[in-house]
Amino acid sequence: MFREETIAAVATAHGEGGIGIVRISGSEARNILDRVFAPAVAGPVQNRKLTFGTVRDPESGEAIDEALAVFIPSPNTYTREDIVEINCHGSVVALRKTLDIVLSQGAALAESGEFTKRAFLNGRIDLAQAEAVIDLVKAKAERSFGAALSQLEGKLSSKVRDIRKEILSLLVNITVNIDYPDEDIEELTYAELLNHITQIGDMIEKLLITANAGQIIKDGLKTVIAGTPNVGKSSLLNALLKENRAIVTEIPGTTRDIIDETISIKGIPVRLLDTAGIRGTEDAIEKMGIEKSREAFNQADLILLMVDGSEGLSQADIELMTAARSKQAIVLINKTDLDKKIQEAQIRAVLPGCDTIDTSVIGDIGISELEDKIAAMVYGGKAVQGESLLVTNARHKDILSRASSAICDARVMAEKKEALDFIEVDVRAAFELLGEMIGETASDEIINEVFANFCLGK
Ligand code: GDP
Repeated sequence: MFREETIAAVATAHGEGGIGIVRISGSEARNILDRVFAPAVAGPVQNRKLTFGTVRDPESGEAIDEALAVFIPSPNTYTREDIVEINCHGSVVALRKTLDIVLSQGAALAESGEFTKRAFLNGRIDLAQAEAVIDLVKAKAERSFGAALSQLEGKLSSKVRDIRKEILSLLVNITVNIDYPDEDIEELTYAELLNHITQIGDMIEKLLITANAGQIIKDGLKTVIAGTPNVGKSSLLNALLKENRAIVTEIPGTTRDIIDETISIKGIPVRLLDTAGIRGTEDAIEKMGIEKSREAFNQADLILLMVDGSEGLSQADIELMTAARSKQAIVLINKTDLDKKIQEAQIRAVLPGCDTIDTSVIGDIGISELEDKIAAMVYGGKAVQGESLLVTNARHKDILSRASSAICDARVMAEKKEALDFIEVDVRAAFELLGEMIGETASDEIINEVFANFCLGK
């Protein structure tokens, strides 16, 4: 799994920019730097000193770019290997040419995530921390970044290690009782056993419970703004976009007229689905019909269903609300600056238990209440809000739920006072699973899959 070669890649995003960086890692990094880079003041590049000079093709002598270069010796580097970074001008040409001559001097092109993979394989970070790196790079809202950073710092890993330590002490206890039942050792009672298993189960559950909010913090809350024509949807969209200056992306979707826009609401990434439909002249939901709007609703985590409060509820409003029944929905009674003709009770009669907010989008009323409600919904009203430790990764969530059910099985057996050998199997399974999360017991296959999702140069 580990190749010895020195690797290189462009570490900055593709496209124009002030600077662009070619990064090299491995034992040949220093030699390659000396061959392709001529400092402006003659003499070798000193360790850890950013040095001005020229990138040159050593074969032809051609000057490629003016650049700043640095050499950082191992082990205090990102990969724990020798690292070189060459800061070129942020031009695709300069970067491509610089990378080409670096490769021509013996470096191999790095695979996606290979720098971080080396940091993991060289023991600087564990697997869960490595996974946080990619989340950090991809984070689109403050909370997403915060959650990834705390994982990179190792807060999640240290919780997982605590749980494993606890499981290990239980395993030792069980094993001793299985192997030396007649020796003069303190006998493990089923009450003690049950107690310990329950305690471990609670520890796992406490992490697992953050995973729902965690997934939204990582991937964004998929939100559809729905309503009949002229209720004020595009006005709401504009208000949200204007207030939340951190518009982060405009991702063209699978079909040409679907555009996702992600905005940050109270640090939470909110993906507004199908905003093109709302912005178009024809109303998307209307055009699509009720069946199609059901499909749109199915994909959404949240439906913001807007009705015109200055008019009574229409048949179309009722159909939309009915379609939203099985989903999380907030009904916005808009245009409350005019005579309010819709009452909450009428809405709850169709959508029992839903949240409603009186809004006047043009009067900027109800928007901040909407934002508060969205945040409260994501955190499920729980105290996770202030705490930055969240399980955001689907692989981690899967492992934690499998570990949790193994511990649950062990507990059921302990309650029935089954033989220790059986209980031990489940407890050990949980131990192994949690090891997979931080990479201590992960197979090469899992590790490769984790890093395959990275971007080049990271
Ligand atoms: P959409 O078709 O649902 O996207 O609705 P628009 O956002 O285009 O709004 C339709 C009309 O309603 C526009 O003339 C808006 O200015 C107006 N409108 C939107 N929100 C309000 C509101 O809160 N109060 C009033 N009085 N008019 C509004």
